[in-house]
Amino acid sequence: MIRLKFLLLHFVSIIMIGLTCERNAALYSVTPKSQEQVRYLRTLDLNNGSLDFWVLTTLINYEAHIKVPVNDVSNFRDDLEQHGMQPTVVNPNLTSCINYTRSERFARYNSIESLDITKTYLRYNTMNQYIDYLGRKYSDIVTISTVGSSYENRPLRTVTISQQRNSFNRHTILIDAGIHAREWLAPATALYVIDQLVQHTDRNRDLLENVTWVILPLVNPDGYEYSLMKDKYWRKNRHPLRHCVGSDANRNFDFHWAEKGVSRHECSQTYPGPKPFSESEARVVRRLLLSKNDSIMFYLTLHSYGRYLMYPWGYRKGLPQTWRTMDAVARAGSAAMKQSHNVNYKVGGAGKILYEASGGSDDYALAVAQIPIALIMELPGDERGFHPAVSKLQPFLEEAFSGIRAMALKVMQIMV
Ligand SMILES: [Zn+2]
Repeated sequence: MIRLKFLLLHFVSIIMIGLTCERNAALYSVTPKSQEQVRYLRTLDLNNGSLDFWVLTTLINYEAHIKVPVNDVSNFRDDLEQHGMQPTVVNPNLTSCINYTRSERFARYNSIESLDITKTYLRYNTMNQYIDYLGRKYSDIVTISTVGSSYENRPLRTVTISQQRNSFNRHTILIDAGIHAREWLAPATALYVIDQLVQHTDRNRDLLENVTWVILPLVNPDGYEYSLMKDKYWRKNRHPLRHCVGSDANRNFDFHWAEKGVSRHECSQTYPGPKPFSESEARVVRRLLLSKNDSIMFYLTLHSYGRYLMYPWGYRKGLPQTWRTMDAVARAGSAAMKQSHNVNYKVGGAGKILYEASGGSDDYALAVAQIPIALIMELPGDERGFHPAVSKLQPFLEEAFSGIRAMALKVMQIMV
């Protein structure tokens, strides 16, 4: 009887897990060759709710990535072929269900000292343990601070790295990551930057001279944990609304809020929240941007995917007066990654490369907090989209660090 109950429970839990995730989708790639084809893809993005555009630019000859439910594949292919495009399958078996293989399970480590952050995606608690460990071991240069909390009350914590702890330091580089839950490579990269600065000081001494680094490695831990454990493609935070859960915290900043690139439907991936700064995760980033805004010279926000380095404006196609400085910093990053890993990052204004989207943290950093250089880095993806195979983590992290290192040096050269 007990065994029967157990089996029944097990069966029910399998069904419940089945209900929370989406099976049977495929990842397609298509490269538009004309403005008309670019426009058609955007029309599909706006009007076809079953398609999820993971990568979509306004540019000709740039690959778009689209998640297509298996039942919609033939319509999708017909539509594109009618418009002269030939979609190709990148991955025939996408599922948002949690089906980790043995080798992908979360960090197995005997002690936090032996954890290798380049081998797995970390749970939120493990990240915190790791940060605390670094804070203890390198207490001469590392300070851990709790700067707020998420909707579900998870503490949001920054790592401050500075060699001049007691002297006033005017020059700060602020990095945040993981405001979008499913972009797993972003917090992994932020953690890798911390690790390089703290544990490999010998290689990176030049990055710590006269500069303080403040890094918030995970802005949206509620969404991130939900994405790791329940639904891989979850993007928003976990603030319940009337009909659905979650707002896009990166559409929630109070600068041209809700004007462009958002949806007023609560259930949409780009719902900007009921009002500006309604979301605690966005408020924490605001506080960081404003509290240190006279010393921050460079704000870098990490996202994925597509390999872009972008600067404001996001809310419109036009560029701010100071775009050339930001462009020079971004180009230093893309050149370094070309040299070290032979990869191509596209550089430009966010509203120009992607579609206009307002209420993002980078626009707010430049326009309101008046931080001179604000950049978005869209890290790489692979045939799994937002969740590259763990075997690719190390090269992707090294690639990103080579770009971030070059951008930091360029900023120091310009500003210090
Ligand atoms: Zn993002």
